[in-house]
Amino acid sequence: MDLNTYHDVWVIGEQREGKTHPVTIELAGEGRKLADKLGKKLIVVLAGDNIESNVNELLHYGVDKVYYLKHELLKHFSTEGLTKAIADLILERKPEIVLVGATSLGRDIAPRIAGRVGTGLTADCTSLEIDTTDNKILQTRPAFGGNLMATIICPKNRPQMSTVRPGVMEKAKYTEEVRGEVEEIVPTLTSDSIRTKLLEIIPLEKNGVDLTEAQIIVSGGRGLKSAKGFELLQKLADKLGGEVAASRAAVDSGWIDHSRQVGQTGTTVRPTIYIACGISGAIQHLAGMSESKYIIAINKDAEAPIFKTCDYGIVGDLYEVIPNMLEWLDRK
Ligand code: FAD
Repeated sequence: MDLNTYHDVWVIGEQREGKTHPVTIELAGEGRKLADKLGKKLIVVLAGDNIESNVNELLHYGVDKVYYLKHELLKHFSTEGLTKAIADLILERKPEIVLVGATSLGRDIAPRIAGRVGTGLTADCTSLEIDTTDNKILQTRPAFGGNLMATIICPKNRPQMSTVRPGVMEKAKYTEEVRGEVEEIVPTLTSDSIRTKLLEIIPLEKNGVDLTEAQIIVSGGRGLKSAKGFELLQKLADKLGGEVAASRAAVDSGWIDHSRQVGQTGTTVRPTIYIACGISGAIQHLAGMSESKYIIAINKDAEAPIFKTCDYGIVGDLYEVIPNMLEWLDRK
């Protein structure tokens, strides 16, 4: 493999039923930084059918080019269709770096694409840097149950591929200026290339939640002592216009659905305000929320590790502190 023939930074964008997933814009932000450091182009690949407005909108986020993989067989998500279309394009155009969102869809296709094109993949990266001595990408991710951070390189193969969870990277800024151009590409796909048939799309159940979009999160841990504690947290979240989330201990206790778990094996969030109530601050929990802008911790143990991470700490019983907060908010 001649590594010198590979160039450009690609982001594999994601759209679901015509809605661009926010992780695409987050990766465009990160991809821009990497491309600028390498002096290369940033290209977003978006696949679908009749998604011209999504494709054109991407040009407002500082990308140099969008490859629009247009095909009726890519109208809905298709593991086999997307894997083939993207892998074929990688083999033809040879990007140096490929970033994929670690969403359920991204996690499905990224390892398949890496396998097809014969390269490695670092999953769930939390930071990406360029080693300027040899322009390799340093891919950092939690390892050994989150107890240490491992930095991984892909020295002999190209492209260097990483998945990054939603909410980890900062979104690219929207600008009125259109920087690049769209290239429409029709992949070679026939219905024979896709062995599975989509019969029905079942929307997320009503109580399903996208924590990555929440600006205020009120999160509860084992310190709540029971599922009932979440009713109190919900009151605070409703008052603040936020969402309720939880630590794994609370989820494992059966007090709340796993879709609300924050952390290494849950969702990574980056809200403006994260209120941790009765959460000790284990490293696996911090992995999912430490990038929040302001962290407020309520814990009755002054020695709890969460107090080392938070911006504001309240030492006290959450069952006294939160009713007081609600009362104060009522008076506002
Ligand atoms: P605890 O650690 O038991 O803390 C409860 C806290 O509540 C204590 O600090 C206590 O002082 C306080 N408290 C008690 N009563 C009150 C009260 N009345 N008022 C105020 N404070 C009170 N964890 C996650 O959260 N997310 C993950 O994604 C995750 N993934 C993991 C992956 C792996 C591979 C492993 C090994 C672990 C993972 N964990 C995860 C588990 C993690 O290690 C911790 O066990 C978990 O985060 C602890 O949850 P907690 O803080 O709610 O409970």
